[in-house]
Amino acid sequence: MGEKILLTPGPTMLPDRVKKAMESQPLFHRSDEFYRIFSKFNESLKRIFKTSQPVITLTSSGTGGLEALVSNIFSRGDKALGVTIGEFGDRFIEIAESYGVEVDELRYEWGTAARPDDIERRVRSNSYKAVLITHNETSTGVVNDIKTIAEICHRYNVLILVDAVSSLGGLELDMDGWGLDGVVTCSQKCLMGPPGLAFVALSERAWQETKKSDLPHFYFDLNKAKKGTEKINPDTPYTPAVNTIMAAYEGLNMLDKNLDAVYIRQRIIGNAVRKAVDHIGLRIFARENYSDCITGIYLPDGISSKEIIDYMYKEGVVIASGQGRYRGNVIRLGHMGYCTKEMLIKCFNALEAALTASGFELKAGLSIETLDKELGELS
Ligand code: PLP
Repeated sequence: MGEKILLTPGPTMLPDRVKKAMESQPLFHRSDEFYRIFSKFNESLKRIFKTSQPVITLTSSGTGGLEALVSNIFSRGDKALGVTIGEFGDRFIEIAESYGVEVDELRYEWGTAARPDDIERRVRSNSYKAVLITHNETSTGVVNDIKTIAEICHRYNVLILVDAVSSLGGLELDMDGWGLDGVVTCSQKCLMGPPGLAFVALSERAWQETKKSDLPHFYFDLNKAKKGTEKINPDTPYTPAVNTIMAAYEGLNMLDKNLDAVYIRQRIIGNAVRKAVDHIGLRIFARENYSDCITGIYLPDGISSKEIIDYMYKEGVVIASGQGRYRGNVIRLGHMGYCTKEMLIKCFNALEAALTASGFELKAGLSIETLDKELGELS
């Protein structure tokens, strides 16, 4: 069988020009050729983050970027409000706690979004250094209203640190315009690159906080990395994943000048996927603030995620299970980054076949008709 179609919530498929860029011999990271590319790479990241601040590239997955954020901003004894609507909100809290930050938790049922009013009540009556929050909760397919929550944080002089790992470059996010103090993403989701890089940007006031931080960090020292990006010939303190940078650079170039069109494209895809799921007769996991990057789907009683995922895998389509206690009865489709109409149609053909093989009755082909209609000419 040929190449499998990857519609997981990351890593995502790579466009041909991204794949091709990985094939060359590594560049020396202290060479003019690398400096030239890294300089353009950094400028491109700034436009996609919508910030005038430097964006730091770390050779790590997204979790490393979140750890860098925590260990560079907080100091011993600091308090934070950890807002969680799923697995990745929980992880952000765990990272902060592992560094000794005292985190008050504000938890929401999976499938729902954070309520800005609740956050306001908490920040009004406590002295938090920061609010930790996920933009697009990949475990549930729910998006938090970061813009409104950022306004609240500003009103109470609290930093807002955002995990945008599965949203940046796919869902609208305006770092400077919304006043976000820390934003983290990684290469392998909306940015259409291979796994291996985390990107971290801080506001001016967050950079000030890093000067006071007394938490340990060495490899993930953001000030050291910032110095590298600010040189005329920008570089990184240690050997970066140069081939991954070369490949991710191609992905960034595809996005950079087309961000608004990409946001619209994601909306069309998200909407089409939800309608197709509905027409199969299945229920979407999210109950509000639907993500246009990832969709969680409840399976009918008696059908396990493993049997559907295994069947689809044999058909050449890779999707993911639910997380936490939903691992067994929820599947998740990633439809961010490089995701085409053709891939989605193959995915829903495989999903219909898998469900039918498991004994679920559906109107064959209806989800495909829906996708065809909703996606129109989108390639
Ligand atoms: N945060 C979110 C919202 C994610 O979706 C993920 C990965 O799926 C992570 C953090 C962790 O990223 P990584 O697996 O690259 O460390």
